[in-house]
Amino acid sequence: MKKTTSIMVVDGSEVSRTIITRILRNEMESAKITACGSGREALSFLSGGGKFDLITTALMLPDMDGLDLTRAIRKTSSHHYTPIIVVSGDADSRLLREGFDAGVTDYFDKSLGYQSFVDFIKSVSRRNSGLVGRILYVEDSRTAAIITCNIMEKHGLKITHTTSAEQALEIIKRSLDKEVPEEEVIDIVMTDFYLKGKLTGGDLLHAIRTRLHLSQQEMPVLVVTVTDNDERQAEVFHAGANDFVTKPIVEEVLIARIRSLLLIKQQFNALRFQAEEMQRIASTDSLTGVRSKRYLLDHGEAFIREPENQPVWAILMDIDHFKKINDNLGHITGDHVLAALGDLLNQSFQANSMIVRFGGEEFAVILPNITTREISAKAEVLRRKIEILKPMNVLTTVSIGMASTTDHPNADLTKLLSYADKALYAAKQRGRNRICIYAADGVCYSPVAVESTQDTGTGQ
Ligand code: GH3
Ligand code: MG
Ligand code: MG
Ligand code: MG
Repeated sequence: MKKTTSIMVVDGSEVSRTIITRILRNEMESAKITACGSGREALSFLSGGGKFDLITTALMLPDMDGLDLTRAIRKTSSHHYTPIIVVSGDADSRLLREGFDAGVTDYFDKSLGYQSFVDFIKSVSRRNSGLVGRILYVEDSRTAAIITCNIMEKHGLKITHTTSAEQALEIIKRSLDKEVPEEEVIDIVMTDFYLKGKLTGGDLLHAIRTRLHLSQQEMPVLVVTVTDNDERQAEVFHAGANDFVTKPIVEEVLIARIRSLLLIKQQFNALRFQAEEMQRIASTDSLTGVRSKRYLLDHGEAFIREPENQPVWAILMDIDHFKKINDNLGHITGDHVLAALGDLLNQSFQANSMIVRFGGEEFAVILPNITTREISAKAEVLRRKIEILKPMNVLTTVSIGMASTTDHPNADLTKLLSYADKALYAAKQRGRNRICIYAADGVCYSPVAVESTQDTGTGQ
């Protein structure tokens, strides 16, 4: 759900008001624009209860000057902190001299044109827009917690409140699980430095950094302290905090600090996403959509060693007479055939299997937790599916060789693949389009496959 941004535009020129309002409405879907022709009109809107997220005013208004209007707005309690942008013909020296004291947030040189002005407003409004993120808030005083939660919620933040560091640690640990529902994902932690429980806020911070190994980018922490003497500040930073706020909490300060910590977190997330995406691209074969051989070499050994994956089977599959397909129908048709087989393999095996382009027209699949009977049935189904697939209208068959950690408990990845390759070689020798296993006592046919195999002499 998008929050609307209420913007007040104060300008004496009706033409300017109309143009600015029109562009803002066109370009900011969520903006509600109120245009006023004079300072008095603007003030009467504000005293009438109007609430704005951003105010822009011309430096010269028909009835007063923009700086006086700014001063008057700053005196209201409702718009004490609202960003006010003054629009002037040039960087007026009076504006530079007095603007800041008057309460001007920023100014805009209107000679840059209406479109730049609207872009500027959009960026200011984005900077000041509602905050997105979940804060784990650790505070043992319920009264303090209620007040601070109200402030943070008003700014669009989601809060998980807890009164103890112990509970906070459990919540953080849970939030690190990739499968966790969105409402349990913690973006930043805000903790009181002193907590009544066994662990203090300082201990929590220490645990986040040294026990959970979460960096200041991965889990920014804002500490709430009572005093702000230098020694205490040093202590807070030493414990691994990103920043601190002092009690009593000042809304503006708290929100500004949270905003910058959320930005750190969002940048961290964006970088991590990019890195994962690059990894995924690097480990995927672009023609066939299955994993690259690099991926198998990086992860295969650990995969076949993993006790939970036992028994592991390695399948090697090689297209029969593929050279003929290339020679007779062209390399591009050959590529389409490879791509179609990649698709079929990705559909045929669960995500917990490693499906790899092992060489030019060879694929490997490493499957966890599967019996001889099951793998034989699966491989036979695959062989038949390929036989009837006819990608690009080309009759395509494959020979398959398999080996397992059941038959070869001490084999490493290279060894297991070389056994599967021996079986593949035997399948080719015995007529192609068939499945062999390199068992403990040598090559044999796959038990399910025997009766249906025949050499189809494929290739065109
Ligand atoms: P066999 O049944 O003994 O496996 O015969 P084959 O013709 O399939 O075996 P061979 O190893 O002689 O030929 C494999 C061919 O695969 C040779 C090579 O040009 C082709 N090839 C390898 N990679 C690609 C590719 O990415 N695209 C295409 N179109 N062809 C490829
Ligand atoms: Mg070959
Ligand atoms: Mg081949
Ligand atoms: Mg080959």
